[in-house]
Amino acid sequence: MSAVKRSAKKRLLALAIIGVSCRLLLFSAAAPAEKKDIVSVEKTPRLAARLQPLGLDLLFEWDNKVYILAGPRDLRTLDRNHIPYLMESNKFPALTSSPVLLQGGINGDYHSYLELEADLQDLERAHPEIARLYTIGMSLENRKIYALKISDNVALDEEEAEVLFLGCHHAREWISVEVPFLLAKHLLENYASDAAVRRAVDQSEVWIAPLINPDGLEYSIRFYRYWRKNRRLNVDGSFGVDLNRNYGYNWAYDNEGSSPEPAAEVYRGSAPFSEPETRAVRDLFLEREFQALVTYHSYSQVILYPWGYTPTPTDKEALHWSLAADMSMLMEAVNGRLYGFGPSAQSSYLTNGDTTDWAFGVAGIPAYTIELPPVDQLGGGFFNAERDITPVFNENLPAALYLINWSIVNFGAFQAQEREARTDRLNGRGKVPGRHQN
Ligand SMILES: [Zn+2]
Repeated sequence: MSAVKRSAKKRLLALAIIGVSCRLLLFSAAAPAEKKDIVSVEKTPRLAARLQPLGLDLLFEWDNKVYILAGPRDLRTLDRNHIPYLMESNKFPALTSSPVLLQGGINGDYHSYLELEADLQDLERAHPEIARLYTIGMSLENRKIYALKISDNVALDEEEAEVLFLGCHHAREWISVEVPFLLAKHLLENYASDAAVRRAVDQSEVWIAPLINPDGLEYSIRFYRYWRKNRRLNVDGSFGVDLNRNYGYNWAYDNEGSSPEPAAEVYRGSAPFSEPETRAVRDLFLEREFQALVTYHSYSQVILYPWGYTPTPTDKEALHWSLAADMSMLMEAVNGRLYGFGPSAQSSYLTNGDTTDWAFGVAGIPAYTIELPPVDQLGGGFFNAERDITPVFNENLPAALYLINWSIVNFGAFQAQEREARTDRLNGRGKVPGRHQN
């Protein structure tokens, strides 16, 4: 195990993601008709210098290779420049230029707010001993923000590791509702039959809130598929705050990682936690003692961790890195899809006021943004097909279980650290967590 892990880590050292993630991506034109492939080119200084001026669509770097999205003309360009490449398309979701067709209702197999509400209530009803549904807040338009707690003796607050999974801060990222919802369903429905699931549920308290932005999701379903923000009416008459820029740690650190302009896609709001949706997450978080957090987004198929506001590494870079490396390997083993990983600010773009910076900033816990597939716009972008839901969930399941188990194994150390932090706070050292930030 350790030898495998060591060599894998060495392999992954080469990682540097330059792909575009949901975090800053705005709109893009319809996919071109020409067939595209993903190819890799050996990353040597000589080849890198020759690739640079060719204007190709570079996706990311991995394992000493540069991955490129290339149509026939790009392949001819590579040929003409005598740059050898490997076809790698089979490692990624099928590239398609045809629009995704949805069966069964306005948003197909994806959940609407009401469908999710009904399904969460059904799960609680079917598994009353191990599931309890909480309303952790109300959206601007008065929809409930739900969190399902899953644990043995679910009515009790036991001395157990607690882990938080969040979905759908961004309205158009429909797949990010499905993965945490299916995680809840999987834990509940396999509790009786699967020893690993049973152990995880018995020894931890898993909290799953699959839909942080219900108003935005409904708007995305009914009116405008690309809607991203919540439905706040801003002072200038524009709508929406980017909920993943509204958290209170280094909020508004600069205007690059978020925007002060209300009409911007990454508008951070008028104040930290100005939005009821982020306050719902904050209040749950501060009430519990979470030991790890995952927030699902799409797209770009990467695992990101703090910091987002600065390229400076955190004091827990090694821990974040090794957990992400292990999760990425577990994910790749399921369907062969590669999830890159790295610190958020170094991997793609600067962000400030996001969930993971805040969770890590106030609690020092591992906090991950998992950007689900596809890897780019041509793989469907925000429009995952319905047939993608199951495979994307399947490959994310072992990573989620891994993080839950890591939390269980390290619960003793976590408690000791928490006690120490509390003592520090009582003695006036250390900082009080963001309970009073608003
Ligand atoms: Zn997102």
